[in-house]
Amino acid sequence: MSDFVQITRADKHRDVEFYRMAERMYEEIWNNLLPQQVLSNGLSNRIETNVITPPDAPIPDCLTCGACCQGLICVGVRPTDNVDPELYWDVTTEAAEGEIVVDRYLRRNAETLACIALEGTIGEHVGCTVYETRPIMCHHFDAGSDRCHSIRRAFGIEPFLTMQEMFEANEKLDTQPQQDDPSTIIRNAEIKEDEEGGRLTVTALMKDGTLRQVHSYDPEEEVWMQFEFDGLRLSELDEKVKLKQASPQKGVTRFL
Ligand code: SF4
Ligand code: SF4
Repeated sequence: MSDFVQITRADKHRDVEFYRMAERMYEEIWNNLLPQQVLSNGLSNRIETNVITPPDAPIPDCLTCGACCQGLICVGVRPTDNVDPELYWDVTTEAAEGEIVVDRYLRRNAETLACIALEGTIGEHVGCTVYETRPIMCHHFDAGSDRCHSIRRAFGIEPFLTMQEMFEANEKLDTQPQQDDPSTIIRNAEIKEDEEGGRLTVTALMKDGTLRQVHSYDPEEEVWMQFEFDGLRLSELDEKVKLKQASPQKGVTRFL
């Protein structure tokens, strides 16, 4: 049997309050930006899976940009990330036996709402003060990815697409082959109490909008490492759980 570990929190946020706050931050930032032209959600974060950006497009210089470090509010931190606890918020949800940490995010600068670790002026000169120890999520966001270019356009750092380019981009996105059945891919998940027995379950919101109980959850018996449910296939879930249970490293659940 593994122990469930409650992470000590530097700052307390209930999930409901936190996501409301995050939504307000998004609105405050995105209301002041230019139209996105093509949605940034669903665009690739990695160059190798770009759909819109031509392969020979020059890679933008992050040091004169910083748009993603301000525009993307919920930058997750995993237990395996070596991030100073002063730099993140833990977000908890309430369960039968007390609190469970479900998420961990980089804090935001109260004035600019940018990541707390960003210094400088967006679109001019910026730097990441924790570059060597930045979270894996930051590593996984490529300069030059479709999403990078989309955010840069919203910040006015690079020119808008022409009408023709936008048309072609949307067409390419629309004709992307559906690789998986959306009813088997998880968009989000949370720990819920079973209505009958009060047991905890992991309930997932699937890509097609349906809800599914995907795992019964016993904090006394299981250790789940923090990971992103978003994009996870049902067929991969069991493997994940076993992996987590077998892992000597202690951790928490994570939902994006
Ligand atoms: S939006 Fe792109 S270029 Fe700008 S900082 Fe982020 S990754 Fe770098
Ligand atoms: S940790 Fe660094 S790279 Fe990551 S969002 Fe913050 S400033 Fe940007």
